[in-house]
Amino acid sequence: MPRDSFNREIDYLRISLTDRCNLRCVYCMPLEGLRFLPNAELLTAGEIERVVRAAVSVGFRKFRLTGGEPTLRLDLLEIVERISAVPGVGDLALTTNALLMGKLAAPLKAAGLARINVHLDSLNPATVERQMRWGTFARAWDGIMAAEAAGLTPIKLNAVVTAGFNENEVVDLARLAIERDWHVRFIELMPLGGGECATLSIKRYVSNIETRRRIEGALGALGEIASANPADESRNYRIAGARGVIGFISPVSEPYCGTCNRMRLTADGKFHLCLLNDDELDVRKALRAGNSDGGLERIAQILVTAVAGKPTGHHLLEGRSTRDRSMYQIGG
Ligand code: SAM
Ligand code: SF4
Repeated sequence: MPRDSFNREIDYLRISLTDRCNLRCVYCMPLEGLRFLPNAELLTAGEIERVVRAAVSVGFRKFRLTGGEPTLRLDLLEIVERISAVPGVGDLALTTNALLMGKLAAPLKAAGLARINVHLDSLNPATVERQMRWGTFARAWDGIMAAEAAGLTPIKLNAVVTAGFNENEVVDLARLAIERDWHVRFIELMPLGGGECATLSIKRYVSNIETRRRIEGALGALGEIASANPADESRNYRIAGARGVIGFISPVSEPYCGTCNRMRLTADGKFHLCLLNDDELDVRKALRAGNSDGGLERIAQILVTAVAGKPTGHHLLEGRSTRDRSMYQIGG
């Protein structure tokens, strides 16, 4: 298994399939001024499969498809089929806003997807419209139900807590984990890429200390669950008698850089070494160089170099993170 220069074991690759999205969450994508990658710059299904084969050859086991909104890729089923068929792939999951899961859930399961993380900030249709814009709560909920029925479980639901939008609705979201065997996780805002979304992410930040206080005030004490996975970015808790789990992902108030096990691949074929820094290494050029061995050895070399160069630490407490890319351009 590859280790970085801080002795962290890196075995998890998050693959962004697109920078486009069918939502415009207030902290992620502005309504105007967006310029998306042309299709020719996106890695193809075959190129993504080759990166996965190279990654497995150096010890990567865990893979996640993200974006932008990964379900917008018309060849998503082919991508899932290709990755899940690679020997050595231990886990393949998807992060989505679930709007298109109604029709995609069953075929994705059949193609080899294990489970999904769903991003939904509120159970109140008016808040969803205001915070996530463009989509509707009903459509997202139908998508989650379809995913659960198809066996893409356990459902992990991610909500980004945003002052003035949903911070008073966290108790309703947390209640889902009492009734259902879901993981309901609360994420702290991060200011990525500059611009209006980054500014909003600083101004509207709510600490998970505050969110936890709200939930415990209404639902009672949370008991911490020892994690089976030390690299889990979520600290997990249970309410007595609950079927599910409540989690807090707190990059600002409780950074977890020390246990990070992730490498990221952007939709345009760069290894992005850390979500909260700009360092990148191009792999698309090697993928398109047409080597007789399919470039696998070269791609594996680039990945090992990327792992070795992985930085640690961030500047979120000073309100700084990436300059060059926003969350939807890296893959969350
Ligand atoms: N579209 C998919 C979704 O929303 O789940 C996948 C991509 S999205 C960029 C991945 C994750 O990033 C989502 O859970 C979303 O809530 C989170 N996210 C986006 N912008 C964020 C920000 N400024 N701070 C914290 N989390 C953010
Ligand atoms: Fe789209 Fe996900 Fe960003 Fe929302 S958080 S705008 S759903 S990419």
